[in-house]
Amino acid sequence: MKIIAIGRNYAEHAKELNNPVPATPVIFMKPDTALLKDNKPFYLPDFSQDIHHEIELVLKISKEGKHIEEKYAADYYDEIGLGVDFTARDIQSRHKEKGLPWELAKAFDNSAPISAKFISKTEFQDLNNISFKLEVNGETRQAGNTKDLLFSFERIITFVSGYITLKKGDLIFTGTPEGVGRVNIGDHLKGYIEDEQLLNFYVK
Ligand code: MG
Repeated sequence: MKIIAIGRNYAEHAKELNNPVPATPVIFMKPDTALLKDNKPFYLPDFSQDIHHEIELVLKISKEGKHIEEKYAADYYDEIGLGVDFTARDIQSRHKEKGLPWELAKAFDNSAPISAKFISKTEFQDLNNISFKLEVNGETRQAGNTKDLLFSFERIITFVSGYITLKKGDLIFTGTPEGVGRVNIGDHLKGYIEDEQLLNFYVK
């Protein structure tokens, strides 16, 4: 399986990092070795002094497809989970300055904690009004809602599948809202979709 992630998909987050709001989706990938499951602790890596949390809704792809038309795109994912796109912001900033790829900042081991539970999309009343949030040490740091997505889930699937075949079990991280920030040893992270807690782990 592969993990595809969308950058700058919420305008307020693009602005907080002084990035332009993109005209087409910004995408990057993480390998399967980035997955961190079952609320296991996240160990801060020694190569960065500035690991940021980015809470994101995650789509689970349910069947193989390429060149998927937008009107059929919703048929290609069946469940929505929650993940954190951990980012070595110091490395990413240096690479952005030089126009270099982001992998060292984004694709490192355990940089993609995901919820054990994924929720069937049929359980949501309105996919364009799903709220989610991240708490750090009991304080809400990020709160987002799919009504603020720049590129809808369908648009993302159509765009990505024009370049890369999507396969059953692939995951798409759909972008983070504003409020990203550094995590420190001892931090307690809890993530929610609506009122349901789906992530609950420590930084060590
Ligand atoms: Mg992200």
